[in-house]
Amino acid sequence: MADPAQLASAIKALPITVSATRPIDEAISTAGGVLFEVLNQGLMLEQLPGVFCAGEMLDWEAPTGGYLLQACFASGRRAGQGVLGFLQGK
Ligand SMILES: Cc1cc2nc3c(=O)[nH]c(=O)nc-3n(C[C@H](O)[C@H](O)[C@H](O)COP(=O)(O)OP(=O)(O)OC[C@H]3O[C@@H](n4cnc5c(N)ncnc54)[C@H](O)[C@@H]3O)c2cc1C
Repeated sequence: MADPAQLASAIKALPITVSATRPIDEAISTAGGVLFEVLNQGLMLEQLPGVFCAGEMLDWEAPTGGYLLQACFASGRRAGQGVLGFLQGK
């Protein structure tokens, strides 16, 4: 820790030893976030009209496997439609 050069070298090498893996059921990339119960169909916060949530802001848990981006794009689209509806007074 006292030698910046040695510390930088250690950080760049990132020595991590994997001793075991956790079960696939626990391999969750996102956890926690805004509850669906406080959002309307357009993913707008009921308590804060004009504020929308999407992607990892939301409380959904996704098993890994490449679908996080898809879900983020899909919820972003839904929120975008919600913004449009909000601006049009629907
Ligand atoms: C290393 C890694 C590999 C991954 N690989 C995959 C994969 O192969 N397949 C897959 O489906 N998913 C993968 N994911 C997960 C996926 O990338 C995320 O789930 C997804 O990008 C989340 O999208 P998001 O829009 O919710 O958040 P983000 O992509 O994090 O977007 C949030 C944006 O908000 C910006 N921001 C933050 N604060 C502010 C602020 N105050 N004002 C303005 N802007 C702000 C940030 O700069 C950022 O651009 C991976 C994630 C990581 C970290």
